[in-house]
Amino acid sequence: MKIAFIGLGNMGGGMAANCVKAGHDVRAFDLSQDALDAAKQAGCATFTSAKDAVADAEAVVSMLPNGAVVKTVYGTDVIGLAPTGAVFLDCSTIDVATAREVISAATEAGYDMVDAPVSGGIAAANGGTLTFMVGGSSDAFARAKPILEAMGKAVIHAGDAGNGQAAKICNNMLLAIHMAGTCEAFAMAEKLGLDPQTFYDISSVSSGQNWSMTSYCPVPGVGPQSPSDNDYQGGFATALMLKDLRLAMEAADASDSAVPMGSRAAALYESFDGAGNGGKDFSAIIKTY
Ligand code: NAD
Repeated sequence: MKIAFIGLGNMGGGMAANCVKAGHDVRAFDLSQDALDAAKQAGCATFTSAKDAVADAEAVVSMLPNGAVVKTVYGTDVIGLAPTGAVFLDCSTIDVATAREVISAATEAGYDMVDAPVSGGIAAANGGTLTFMVGGSSDAFARAKPILEAMGKAVIHAGDAGNGQAAKICNNMLLAIHMAGTCEAFAMAEKLGLDPQTFYDISSVSSGQNWSMTSYCPVPGVGPQSPSDNDYQGGFATALMLKDLRLAMEAADASDSAVPMGSRAAALYESFDGAGNGGKDFSAIIKTY
């Protein structure tokens, strides 16, 4: 299939390469020449504008920084310029309202479109093991699914347009709450005289057990290998967690949802990021306790 791929950064670069490996004819565009050079190396055809990349495409996949960029790119370079009948898949993490607005504009112009944000970081993007949470009509989902399967291990239909983004931010808000709570518990256990490994041995088989503890323990040397064992390098950057928490807080306001724990976690990550820790893995927040 002829796939235009827009946004070939940390995530999009590996995803586009996996589309090539799956036998697709990938037409890549990014504002960065370095990203285009890497895409060429991976077997993509490269273009100097999004308009040229989508001109002959049967599908358009995008992996862009934020909602404003997604809205501009689809509004000026994709909708009305890609061939009639093409399907659009935006895999970026953006706000629910913009996702719904762009999908509605695409649908009015006669295209099928889904929002398909991902769970999994750069390693999963390179390895083709992302999880996609997909919002859109059943027809749009059915067309998007085989394309997403070239880039991921799980593709889940979350419901109508925007529901993929809703699933993503609710999940990541819960992850931030779990991580902050896990750090808090380990720090207090230690102050009360408990060895961290002993607390892990008890809590990991008790009711406090959660993924942030047993798969991603913020305490170095405890639990399976995680970024805490590598001085909090790699993994899921604090700045990206904060981006998702800001989107979650926006969505909470817009939907009049009570999020007392989510807003506390968002405030903790705002402050941790503001202290110059944006590049560190989000589990490094344990250092503040
Ligand atoms: P990135 O900054 O590495 O890549 C974004 C790319 O988009 C860049 O190469 C940039 O040049 C390009 N770009 C920006 N504006 C453009 C435009 N108008 N036209 C064409 N290209 C343009 O970011 P990333 O880490 O790849 O993240 C991409 C998306 O995936 C974000 O929405 C992010 O929140 C989400 N995400 C990232 C991770 C992660 O671990 N990095 C995990 C899950 C989701």
